[in-house]
Amino acid sequence: MITIREYDLETLKATLKDLGYPAFRGDQLFNWVHHRGVATRDEMKNIPLALRELVQVKNMTLATRQVSEEDRTQKLLFQLEDGHFVETVLMQYRYGNSICISTQVGCRMGCAFCASTIDGLKRNLTAGEMLGQVYEANTLVTEKINHVVLMGSGEPLENYEEVVKFLRIINHEKGYHLSLRNITLSTCGLIPQMLRLAGEDLPLTLAISLHGASDEVRSSLMPINRKYPVKELMEAVDYYILKTHRRVTLEYAMIRGVNDAPEQAHLLRNLLEGKLVHVNLIPVNAVAESGFFPSPEKDIIKFKSILEKKGINTTIRRELGSDINAACGQLRNSYHPTKVEIVQRH
Ligand code: SF4
Repeated sequence: MITIREYDLETLKATLKDLGYPAFRGDQLFNWVHHRGVATRDEMKNIPLALRELVQVKNMTLATRQVSEEDRTQKLLFQLEDGHFVETVLMQYRYGNSICISTQVGCRMGCAFCASTIDGLKRNLTAGEMLGQVYEANTLVTEKINHVVLMGSGEPLENYEEVVKFLRIINHEKGYHLSLRNITLSTCGLIPQMLRLAGEDLPLTLAISLHGASDEVRSSLMPINRKYPVKELMEAVDYYILKTHRRVTLEYAMIRGVNDAPEQAHLLRNLLEGKLVHVNLIPVNAVAESGFFPSPEKDIIKFKSILEKKGINTTIRRELGSDINAACGQLRNSYHPTKVEIVQRH
Protein backbone atom coordinates (compact mmCIF):
# COMPACT_ATOMS: atom_id res chain seq x y z
CA MET A 1 0.00 0.00 0.00
CA ILE A 2 1.34 3.44 -0.97
CA THR A 3 0.75 6.00 1.80
CA ILE A 4 0.82 9.16 -0.30
CA ARG A 5 1.56 11.44 2.65
CA GLU A 6 4.99 9.78 2.85
CA TYR A 7 6.03 10.69 -0.68
CA ASP A 8 7.64 13.70 -2.22
CA LEU A 9 6.52 14.28 -5.79
CA GLU A 10 9.58 12.84 -7.54
CA THR A 11 9.62 9.65 -5.47
CA LEU A 12 5.89 9.20 -5.98
CA LYS A 13 6.29 9.48 -9.74
CA ALA A 14 9.20 7.03 -9.72
CA THR A 15 7.23 4.55 -7.61
CA LEU A 16 4.26 4.74 -9.96
CA LYS A 17 6.53 4.37 -12.99
CA ASP A 18 7.83 1.10 -11.53
CA LEU A 19 4.21 -0.03 -11.32
CA GLY A 20 3.60 0.92 -14.96
CA TYR A 21 1.74 4.19 -14.47
CA PRO A 22 2.58 7.44 -16.31
CA ALA A 23 4.14 10.38 -14.45
CA PHE A 24 0.98 12.51 -14.56
CA ARG A 25 -0.73 10.05 -12.19
CA GLY A 26 1.88 11.04 -9.61
CA ASP A 27 0.99 14.71 -10.13
CA GLN A 28 -2.70 13.89 -9.69
CA LEU A 29 -2.22 11.85 -6.50
CA PHE A 30 0.13 14.46 -5.03
CA ASN A 31 -2.41 17.16 -5.81
CA TRP A 32 -5.29 15.26 -4.19
CA VAL A 33 -3.43 14.58 -0.95
CA HIS A 34 -0.95 17.42 -0.47
CA HIS A 35 -2.82 20.26 -2.17
CA ARG A 36 -6.51 19.43 -1.86
CA GLY A 37 -6.22 17.54 1.42
CA VAL A 38 -8.68 14.74 0.68
CA ALA A 39 -9.43 12.35 3.52
CA THR A 40 -10.12 9.22 1.46
CA ARG A 41 -9.00 7.66 -1.82
CA ASP A 42 -12.64 7.41 -2.95
CA GLU A 43 -12.66 11.16 -3.47
CA MET A 44 -9.98 10.93 -6.19
CA LYS A 45 -12.44 10.69 -9.03
CA ASN A 46 -9.91 11.07 -11.85
CA ILE A 47 -7.73 8.17 -10.65
CA PRO A 48 -8.44 4.69 -12.09
CA LEU A 49 -9.98 2.32 -9.54
CA ALA A 50 -7.07 -0.16 -9.84
CA LEU A 51 -4.58 2.57 -8.84
CA ARG A 52 -6.85 3.94 -6.11
CA GLU A 53 -6.82 0.51 -4.53
CA LEU A 54 -3.03 0.64 -4.26
CA VAL A 55 -2.94 3.86 -2.26
CA GLN A 56 -4.05 5.15 1.12
CA VAL A 57 -4.46 8.65 2.44
CA LYS A 58 -4.80 8.50 6.20
CA ASN A 59 -1.97 7.36 8.46
CA MET A 60 -3.52 8.29 11.81
CA THR A 61 -6.87 8.70 13.54
CA LEU A 62 -7.96 11.34 16.00
CA ALA A 63 -8.24 9.69 19.41
CA THR A 64 -9.11 12.65 21.60
CA ARG A 65 -9.69 16.34 21.22
CA GLN A 66 -9.74 18.89 24.02
CA VAL A 67 -10.80 22.47 23.40
CA SER A 68 -9.68 25.20 25.78
CA GLU A 69 -12.54 27.27 27.16
CA GLU A 70 -10.05 30.09 27.79
CA ASP A 71 -8.61 30.69 24.33
CA ARG A 72 -9.96 28.10 21.82
CA THR A 73 -6.61 26.28 21.76
CA GLN A 74 -7.24 22.66 20.79
CA LYS A 75 -5.18 19.74 21.94
CA LEU A 76 -5.36 16.78 19.57
CA LEU A 77 -4.15 13.29 20.27
CA PHE A 78 -3.61 11.11 17.19
CA GLN A 79 -3.18 7.36 17.16
CA LEU A 80 -0.65 6.18 14.59
CA GLU A 81 -0.95 2.97 12.63
CA ASP A 82 1.38 1.08 14.98
CA GLY A 83 -0.69 2.12 18.01
CA HIS A 84 1.56 4.91 19.31
CA PHE A 85 0.04 8.27 20.17
CA VAL A 86 1.27 11.74 19.20
CA GLU A 87 -0.05 15.08 20.23
CA THR A 88 -0.63 18.25 18.31
CA VAL A 89 -1.77 21.66 19.47
CA LEU A 90 -3.94 23.81 17.25
CA MET A 91 -4.03 27.53 18.04
CA GLN A 92 -6.48 29.98 16.49
CA TYR A 93 -5.30 33.56 16.35
CA ARG A 94 -6.72 36.69 14.78
CA TYR A 95 -4.15 36.40 12.00
CA GLY A 96 -4.78 32.73 11.24
CA ASN A 97 -4.44 29.18 12.45
CA SER A 98 -1.20 27.86 13.82
CA ILE A 99 -0.24 24.30 14.69
CA CYS A 100 2.42 22.84 16.94
CA ILE A 101 3.36 19.35 15.77
CA SER A 102 5.37 16.50 17.26
CA THR A 103 8.40 15.06 15.48
CA GLN A 104 9.05 12.00 17.64
CA VAL A 105 7.02 9.69 19.86
CA GLY A 106 8.44 10.75 23.21
CA CYS A 107 11.91 12.22 23.51
CA ARG A 108 15.24 11.15 24.98
CA MET A 109 16.66 14.59 25.67
CA GLY A 110 15.66 14.53 29.33
CA CYS A 111 14.81 18.20 29.89
CA ALA A 112 13.78 18.50 33.51
CA PHE A 113 10.64 20.58 32.92
CA CYS A 114 9.22 18.49 30.05
CA ALA A 115 6.59 15.76 30.20
CA SER A 116 7.49 14.40 26.74
CA THR A 117 10.69 12.86 28.00
CA ILE A 118 9.29 10.99 31.00
CA ASP A 119 8.97 7.67 29.14
CA GLY A 120 11.97 8.28 26.87
CA LEU A 121 12.02 8.03 23.09
CA LYS A 122 9.77 5.43 21.46
CA ARG A 123 10.55 6.21 17.83
CA ASN A 124 11.00 8.92 15.22
CA LEU A 125 7.97 10.11 13.28
CA THR A 126 8.05 9.89 9.51
CA ALA A 127 7.61 12.98 7.33
CA GLY A 128 4.16 11.66 6.42
CA GLU A 129 3.19 11.46 10.08
CA MET A 130 4.24 15.09 10.56
CA LEU A 131 2.25 16.09 7.47
CA GLY A 132 -0.66 13.99 8.72
CA GLN A 133 -0.91 16.11 11.88
CA VAL A 134 -1.25 19.26 9.76
CA TYR A 135 -3.68 17.77 7.23
CA GLU A 136 -5.90 16.13 9.86
CA ALA A 137 -6.01 19.30 11.97
CA ASN A 138 -6.92 21.26 8.86
CA THR A 139 -10.18 19.35 8.62
CA LEU A 140 -11.19 20.77 12.01
CA VAL A 141 -10.93 24.45 11.06
CA THR A 142 -12.54 26.57 8.37
CA GLU A 143 -9.41 28.58 7.56
CA LYS A 144 -6.32 26.74 6.32
CA ILE A 145 -3.50 26.42 8.84
CA ASN A 146 -0.85 28.95 7.86
CA HIS A 147 1.78 28.61 10.59
CA VAL A 148 3.54 25.43 11.65
CA VAL A 149 5.74 25.11 14.70
CA LEU A 150 7.90 22.02 15.26
CA MET A 151 7.82 22.25 19.02
CA GLY A 152 5.67 19.35 20.20
CA SER A 153 7.06 16.07 21.52
CA GLY A 154 10.52 15.22 20.31
CA GLU A 155 13.74 16.90 19.25
CA PRO A 156 13.28 17.71 15.53
CA LEU A 157 16.99 17.79 14.71
CA GLU A 158 17.48 14.28 16.10
CA ASN A 159 15.08 13.18 13.37
CA TYR A 160 16.91 15.30 10.81
CA GLU A 161 16.23 13.49 7.50
CA GLU A 162 12.50 13.09 8.02
CA VAL A 163 12.10 16.64 9.32
CA VAL A 164 13.87 18.12 6.28
CA LYS A 165 11.76 15.89 4.02
CA PHE A 166 8.64 17.18 5.79
CA LEU A 167 9.76 20.79 5.29
CA ARG A 168 10.38 20.32 1.58
CA ILE A 169 7.06 18.56 0.99
CA ILE A 170 4.91 21.04 2.92
CA ASN A 171 6.66 23.89 1.08
CA HIS A 172 6.22 22.29 -2.36
CA GLU A 173 4.45 24.60 -4.82
CA LYS A 174 2.25 21.78 -6.11
CA GLY A 175 1.34 20.66 -2.61
CA TYR A 176 0.35 22.53 0.55
CA HIS A 177 2.74 25.32 -0.47
CA LEU A 178 3.32 26.67 3.02
CA SER A 179 5.96 29.38 3.08
CA LEU A 180 9.03 28.32 5.06
CA ARG A 181 8.91 31.76 6.64
CA ASN A 182 5.73 30.57 8.36
CA ILE A 183 7.53 27.62 9.95
CA THR A 184 9.42 27.61 13.23
CA LEU A 185 11.70 24.71 14.14
CA SER A 186 12.61 24.45 17.79
CA THR A 187 15.71 22.62 18.99
CA CYS A 188 17.30 22.01 22.37
CA GLY A 189 20.61 22.90 20.71
CA LEU A 190 22.10 19.99 18.74
CA ILE A 191 25.03 21.91 17.33
CA PRO A 192 26.16 19.65 14.43
CA GLN A 193 22.62 19.49 13.05
CA MET A 194 22.15 23.26 13.49
CA LEU A 195 25.26 23.86 11.39
CA ARG A 196 24.00 21.42 8.77
CA LEU A 197 20.56 23.05 8.71
CA ALA A 198 22.19 26.41 8.07
CA GLY A 199 23.34 25.07 4.69
CA GLU A 200 19.98 23.64 3.57
CA ASP A 201 18.60 26.86 2.10
CA LEU A 202 15.46 26.58 4.22
CA PRO A 203 14.48 30.10 5.31
CA LEU A 204 12.50 29.03 8.36
CA THR A 205 12.75 30.46 11.87
CA LEU A 206 15.12 28.56 14.11
CA ALA A 207 14.15 28.64 17.78
CA ILE A 208 16.55 27.41 20.43
CA SER A 209 15.43 26.30 23.87
CA LEU A 210 17.94 28.04 26.09
CA HIS A 211 16.32 28.21 29.55
CA GLY A 212 19.56 29.10 31.33
CA ALA A 213 22.38 31.58 30.66
CA SER A 214 25.09 29.78 32.65
CA ASP A 215 26.23 26.20 32.12
CA GLU A 216 25.37 25.42 35.72
CA VAL A 217 21.73 26.47 35.43
CA ARG A 218 21.23 25.22 31.88
CA SER A 219 22.80 21.81 32.58
CA SER A 220 20.55 21.39 35.60
CA LEU A 221 17.53 21.78 33.31
CA MET A 222 18.81 20.37 30.01
CA PRO A 223 21.29 17.47 30.03
CA ILE A 224 22.22 18.25 26.40
CA ASN A 225 24.09 21.30 27.74
CA ARG A 226 26.81 18.99 29.11
CA LYS A 227 27.55 17.94 25.54
CA TYR A 228 26.95 21.32 23.88
CA PRO A 229 27.59 24.06 26.46
CA VAL A 230 26.32 27.62 26.27
CA LYS A 231 29.47 29.17 24.75
CA GLU A 232 29.60 26.65 21.88
CA LEU A 233 25.87 27.02 21.37
CA MET A 234 26.24 30.78 21.01
CA GLU A 235 29.01 30.27 18.44
CA ALA A 236 26.65 28.00 16.50
CA VAL A 237 23.96 30.72 16.69
CA ASP A 238 26.46 33.21 15.24
CA TYR A 239 27.27 30.81 12.41
CA TYR A 240 23.60 30.15 11.68
CA ILE A 241 22.83 33.88 11.49
CA LEU A 242 25.90 34.58 9.35
CA LYS A 243 24.97 31.83 6.90
CA THR A 244 21.19 32.35 6.69
CA HIS A 245 20.76 36.04 7.59
CA ARG A 246 17.74 34.87 9.58
CA ARG A 247 16.91 36.12 13.06
CA VAL A 248 17.13 33.34 15.65
CA THR A 249 14.59 32.99 18.45
CA LEU A 250 15.72 32.00 21.93
CA GLU A 251 13.09 30.37 24.11
CA TYR A 252 13.48 30.90 27.83
CA ALA A 253 11.00 29.14 30.13
CA MET A 254 10.67 31.21 33.28
CA ILE A 255 10.80 28.83 36.25
CA ARG A 256 10.30 30.20 39.73
CA GLY A 257 13.51 30.18 41.78
CA VAL A 258 15.47 28.20 39.17
CA ASN A 259 16.47 30.42 36.24
CA ASP A 260 14.63 33.69 36.79
CA ALA A 261 17.14 35.61 38.96
CA PRO A 262 18.47 38.98 37.70
CA GLU A 263 21.98 37.41 37.54
CA GLN A 264 20.77 35.07 34.79
CA ALA A 265 19.23 38.00 32.93
CA HIS A 266 22.55 39.90 33.09
CA LEU A 267 24.46 36.85 31.84
CA LEU A 268 21.95 36.37 29.05
CA ARG A 269 22.23 40.02 28.11
CA ASN A 270 26.01 39.65 27.82
CA LEU A 271 25.62 36.56 25.64
CA LEU A 272 23.13 38.12 23.26
CA GLU A 273 24.10 41.76 22.98
CA GLY A 274 24.55 42.70 19.32
CA LYS A 275 23.18 39.41 17.94
CA LEU A 276 20.26 39.17 15.49
CA VAL A 277 18.03 37.39 18.01
CA HIS A 278 14.64 37.56 19.64
CA VAL A 279 14.00 36.29 23.15
CA ASN A 280 10.71 34.68 24.17
CA LEU A 281 10.14 34.53 27.91
CA ILE A 282 7.56 31.84 28.64
CA PRO A 283 6.09 31.27 32.09
CA VAL A 284 6.61 27.49 32.39
CA ASN A 285 3.55 25.25 32.44
CA ALA A 286 3.26 23.62 35.84
CA VAL A 287 3.89 19.90 35.12
CA ALA A 288 2.80 17.91 38.12
CA GLU A 289 5.73 15.46 37.89
CA SER A 290 8.44 18.13 37.58
CA GLY A 291 7.70 20.23 40.65
CA PHE A 292 8.37 23.42 38.62
CA PHE A 293 6.16 26.47 38.79
CA PRO A 294 5.98 29.63 36.67
CA SER A 295 7.91 32.71 37.80
CA PRO A 296 5.88 35.56 39.33
CA GLU A 297 4.91 38.17 36.78
CA LYS A 298 7.00 40.90 38.44
CA ASP A 299 10.15 38.76 38.09
CA ILE A 300 9.44 38.11 34.42
CA ILE A 301 8.95 41.84 33.77
CA LYS A 302 12.22 42.63 35.56
CA PHE A 303 14.06 39.96 33.57
CA LYS A 304 12.68 41.42 30.35
CA SER A 305 13.68 44.97 31.24
CA ILE A 306 17.31 43.91 31.90
CA LEU A 307 17.50 42.46 28.39
CA GLU A 308 15.75 45.39 26.77
CA LYS A 309 18.15 47.91 28.31
CA LYS A 310 20.74 46.55 25.88
CA GLY A 311 18.35 46.60 22.94
CA ILE A 312 17.61 42.87 22.97
CA ASN A 313 14.23 42.25 21.40
CA THR A 314 12.19 40.42 24.07
CA THR A 315 8.58 39.33 24.41
CA ILE A 316 6.65 37.56 27.11
CA ARG A 317 4.66 34.76 25.54
CA ARG A 318 1.40 33.93 27.15
CA GLU A 319 0.75 30.38 28.20
CA LEU A 320 -1.81 28.85 25.83
CA GLY A 321 -4.40 26.27 26.74
CA SER A 322 -3.31 25.95 30.35
CA ASP A 323 -6.71 24.45 31.17
CA ILE A 324 -6.16 21.56 28.73
CA ASN A 325 -2.57 20.54 29.47
CA ALA A 326 -1.23 22.15 26.31
CA ALA A 327 2.45 21.84 27.21
CA CYS A 328 4.19 19.19 25.13
CA GLY A 329 3.78 15.65 26.34
CA GLN A 330 1.13 16.38 28.89
CA LEU A 331 -1.86 14.96 27.08
CA ARG A 332 -0.11 11.82 25.87
CA ASN A 333 1.06 11.08 29.38
CA SER A 334 -2.35 11.64 30.93
CA TYR A 335 -4.11 9.63 28.23
CA HIS A 336 -6.07 6.66 29.37
CA PRO A 337 -8.79 5.27 27.10
CA THR A 338 -11.17 4.56 29.96
CA LYS A 339 -10.89 8.06 31.32
CA VAL A 340 -11.39 10.14 28.21
CA GLU A 341 -13.97 10.32 25.50
CA ILE A 342 -12.78 8.58 22.34
CA VAL A 343 -13.57 10.52 19.20
CA GLN A 344 -13.55 8.24 16.17
CA ARG A 345 -12.97 9.92 12.84
CA HIS A 346 -14.38 8.66 9.59
S1 SF4 B 1 11.80 20.12 25.78
FE1 SF4 B 1 11.93 19.27 23.73
S2 SF4 B 1 14.01 18.40 23.63
FE2 SF4 B 1 13.57 18.72 25.80
S3 SF4 B 1 12.74 16.74 26.50
FE3 SF4 B 1 10.98 18.04 25.87
S4 SF4 B 1 10.57 17.49 23.76
FE4 SF4 B 1 12.63 16.76 24.26
